[in-house]
Amino acid sequence: MEDKPIMLIVDDAEINRVLLSQFFQGEYRILEATDGKEALELLASCRVNIVLVELIMPVMDGFELIAALRRSDAYTDVPIIAMTGKNDGDNEARAMEMGAADFITKPFNPTIVRSRVKNVMARLENEWRKLEQAAKDRQLREMHRYIERDALTGLYNRETFYRKAASLMQAMSGTSFDIVYFDISCFKVINDLFQTETGNLILKTAAYYFQAIIGEEGIVGRIEADHFAICIPSNKLHIGRLMEGLDNTMQSLGISHNVMFFAGIYPVSNAFLPVDQMCDRAHMALNKVKGNYMTRYAYYDKSMRDLMLQEQMIVRDMELALQEKQFCIYLQPIYNLKTNKIVSAEALVRWNHPVNGTISPAHFVPVFERNGFIVRLDRFVWEEVCRFLKRQKNNGAPLVPVSVNVSRLHFYNMDLLDFLMRLLEQYELTPDLLKLEITESAYTENPHQITSVIKEFRAKGFRILMDDFGSGYSSLNMLKNMPVDILKIDMAFVQEVENSPRANAILRFMLELSDALNMGVVVEGVETKPQIDILAGLGCEDIQGFYFSRPLPVPDFRTLLEKDA
Ligand code: C2E
Ligand code: CA
Ligand code: CA
Repeated sequence: MEDKPIMLIVDDAEINRVLLSQFFQGEYRILEATDGKEALELLASCRVNIVLVELIMPVMDGFELIAALRRSDAYTDVPIIAMTGKNDGDNEARAMEMGAADFITKPFNPTIVRSRVKNVMARLENEWRKLEQAAKDRQLREMHRYIERDALTGLYNRETFYRKAASLMQAMSGTSFDIVYFDISCFKVINDLFQTETGNLILKTAAYYFQAIIGEEGIVGRIEADHFAICIPSNKLHIGRLMEGLDNTMQSLGISHNVMFFAGIYPVSNAFLPVDQMCDRAHMALNKVKGNYMTRYAYYDKSMRDLMLQEQMIVRDMELALQEKQFCIYLQPIYNLKTNKIVSAEALVRWNHPVNGTISPAHFVPVFERNGFIVRLDRFVWEEVCRFLKRQKNNGAPLVPVSVNVSRLHFYNMDLLDFLMRLLEQYELTPDLLKLEITESAYTENPHQITSVIKEFRAKGFRILMDDFGSGYSSLNMLKNMPVDILKIDMAFVQEVENSPRANAILRFMLELSDALNMGVVVEGVETKPQIDILAGLGCEDIQGFYFSRPLPVPDFRTLLEKDA
């Protein structure tokens, strides 16, 4: 018996089954079915690894099949790829919402189809690896499963909450439900400022309040740390009142720091979805308001659905994009106010998507930071920068150091320094030409680890910038221990400097501080002449911003550099 993975192709049109079989011949053992019903029979008879399903079919269509698979415990980890016609956005969205991992569009393009399948399988493998890593954790949780309850608060723990919520919704299938997800803003700060007992008191009190309010109407659980969730019939949820009561309860504890809860609500429109994914959606709604003190809760809505679909698109297309060089770098000059000359540049990545046009890094970088792909993308960017620098050097053209962004994820990789050194060697460059930008929040997250890695970098001759300086909360305090060469002041300060004396004063203080600590400063996000004047008055020298230039494609930057020389 061969041990190739098994692919099940479900389509009523023979031509499609034949085509797809040809694409995957050799790689997969192929099974074919002509409708959902036949597919279910095949699935029951052997262990299938991936299902490709046409959505529109007689007898039992693709949607019904996806629903049946996502509903059944036996098939939850079998990935499904939906097949749709051209311009069939609605069906695609619906299939993805129901739990398809991806979709492919007819007429089939063999490269795209193969890369999508590969991508889905790779993601699955990633998931497995994560699961394996969590194995120990899970054993512990397994034990807790029997206990069912969280020791601190007495609420259901995560697994139990998922299980109980699912069976409640099943038992009352005619009723519409809401999943509400709660999170406290800056709980970490509270834990740092006060003792653990205070943090625990907050959690226990919140648990008590939720339990008292929800009573027998629904289910309450503690998902992790300061995250809680409830599952409740929609007509029993009075979210405004609930939040108000929660605030009052917290205030009655008499803690000097404001304890603020935020909530996200997912009205369960798709009962087939596993409860953890319902919680993810509620969490997503929460993230939209978190930190916004005027609105403390939000519903999951179409815009978030679109965001989720966009995120799925990003994850789906990233591999191919890297292979096909859809990513490229732009360079934004940094000017010195005294000399009016370009002293440096920052490399910023751009994605030229074949269908969706240019996508901003603000959209895809956070997604890649979550799934780890940023490590490979950054390395690609660094290499592009080296390529540029080497070409300038070889042509005797003007040369300035270029700074690159280094995602926090690299610091979990042992070979970061090796990689950079090899890169420089390959392109015959020296470390002073490649400056490294590390965002402030990475330092606050993991100060010891980062400090020790950075020391090694500086010993090799790299210069380190602290990016987005001033956007975090504990930075001023930590700064004196940080081995940093240049502070890059967060855009927010410049944008307020004209109208806010406070921002002005903070900026002045930052400049004095950097001077005292012997650090350089770059001010970012400068857009107007009045801002330049203020900054010049404060003694700032190095400026990056639209006032001088937007980030430019490499050839344009090269021309600018030549004119400037
Ligand atoms: P960042 O590192 O803080 O980069 C500066 C951002 O500010 C860039 O946005 C730049 O285009 C923009 N900017 C520059 N001058 C001005 C101005 O005068 N006004 C305004 N409003 N904006 C200005 P961009 O290119 O969209 O990048 C956004 C973020 O994405 C970056 O913020 C960085 O965090 C991330 N990013 C970009 N490229 C990379 C990369 O290659 N690797 C990693 N890890 N992250 C990257
Ligand atoms: Ca940066
Ligand atoms: Ca920045």
